[in-house]
Amino acid sequence: MADAEDQVIVGLEVHCQLDTKSKLFCGCDTDYRSDGPNTHVCPICLGLPGAMPSLNKKAIQYAMKVAKALNCEVLEESEFSRKNYFYPDLDKAYQITQYDKPLAEGGYLEIESDEGGERKIRLTRIHVEEDPGRLVHMGNVERGKYSLVDYNRAGIPLIEIVSEPDMRSPKEARKFLNKLRATLEYLSVFDSEKEGSLRVDANISIKGHERVEVKNITSYKGVEKALLFEVTRQKNLIRRGQRIERETRHYLEARGVTQSARSKEMENDYRYFPEPDLRPLRVKSWVDGIVLPELPDARRERFIAQYGCSLNHARTLTGELKLANFFEKVVAADPKNLSTLASTWIADTLIGELNYRDMNLDKVNIEGFTDLINLLKDDTITDKSGVEILRETLDRIKNNLPYETPLEIMNRLNIRKIVHLSGCGNTVSSASGNLTVGPNPILQAISEVLIEQPKAIEDYNEGKKGAFNFLIGQVMKKTRGCADPADLNRMLTEALKKREA
Ligand SMILES: [Zn+2]
Repeated sequence: MADAEDQVIVGLEVHCQLDTKSKLFCGCDTDYRSDGPNTHVCPICLGLPGAMPSLNKKAIQYAMKVAKALNCEVLEESEFSRKNYFYPDLDKAYQITQYDKPLAEGGYLEIESDEGGERKIRLTRIHVEEDPGRLVHMGNVERGKYSLVDYNRAGIPLIEIVSEPDMRSPKEARKFLNKLRATLEYLSVFDSEKEGSLRVDANISIKGHERVEVKNITSYKGVEKALLFEVTRQKNLIRRGQRIERETRHYLEARGVTQSARSKEMENDYRYFPEPDLRPLRVKSWVDGIVLPELPDARRERFIAQYGCSLNHARTLTGELKLANFFEKVVAADPKNLSTLASTWIADTLIGELNYRDMNLDKVNIEGFTDLINLLKDDTITDKSGVEILRETLDRIKNNLPYETPLEIMNRLNIRKIVHLSGCGNTVSSASGNLTVGPNPILQAISEVLIEQPKAIEDYNEGKKGAFNFLIGQVMKKTRGCADPADLNRMLTEALKKREA
């Protein structure tokens, strides 16, 4: 734990888009990302005069699922309010959100703490709101000549999850976000791969000093980086005896720095008042009817119990829904023999190779990967060859080349198979298919050498010491150095004796 004087205090406000088919207050399709600007709009989400919002029940059901999974208390009555401000991405000049009566309060999420073990991060509240539109800046945001407005995003349902200031490091903030993302994905209410589906505001302070809000961080990695930057900046100010201003800062992703926002945003500027076109929400009774799926913690414990995964592997594998599903499909046919290998190869090797190539698990052929694990299980290939095959497979996907099975890759790259020699603790490789393996390849090799080297046998019989070592060398060559020298000595001596007799 850091020195108490240096204690870092972090709280997060996380905005997540709920993955509903239609928007929060109108029937517009939410699947807008591949379409042109302003193609998913109607008078309601454009906020034209006289348009009446009607609440999307599915969005509320999704939000309730999240509230239940995060152990929150759903309020007897919640309420939508108007948050008034002008910005070009909000043409009706107010956002419909929840203010003093949110959907749910309290709750917690457990993360792995920096000291190991689980730690509860308390939540303050969860509320539902609409997403504003999006500005597309032409050229540089400061010097560009103009910006374009796209309202396709306007009205997409969001939940804002507000945590208590319970995190003690940028790393814990990242773990909180990862755990939250996994939980939302397990609940099937959120798609983390959609661009901009998660945005974070972070509050950070050093104990005993003012706090700073870093606004609108749009990537998972960005949160940890922005906070690391702030920790350093704030500690440096304190060290120099300067005061930390209570302020809002923006994170500039490309430069990895935060920058003071010029305009001060004060809460009372928003003139919140209850949305007159929507009735208060009384949905607490729905909670009992919500059946939650298996969530990440439960799945992690099951992976340990059912497959014998280590805690770290189980944590990694269940940390993403797709990864957990992938693992279970790979081991499905033979969990007893495959799970240890598969968990190691997925959690330690595959993830690293995918990250290195900035690739997604979706592209990986499950049957192909399962074949590879089976080759490793049967000791048909070495770990080194396994990595080589995996890398080649991923490179082919990355370069849009046709799919090849692990065996096809082995043949094409002439990757050696392990050949198991009885009477030999080690193994020997041969180019695939080229070696005939008898019941005892050492004896086989010895008898071949004895036929091929009559001169050396003659020398040996005449008592020339070098001849024996020469014959040993010849056998070693044939078995590619696999044979144990003591064994080989004994077997060759016996073979030569038999020959004499
Ligand atoms: Zn609409």
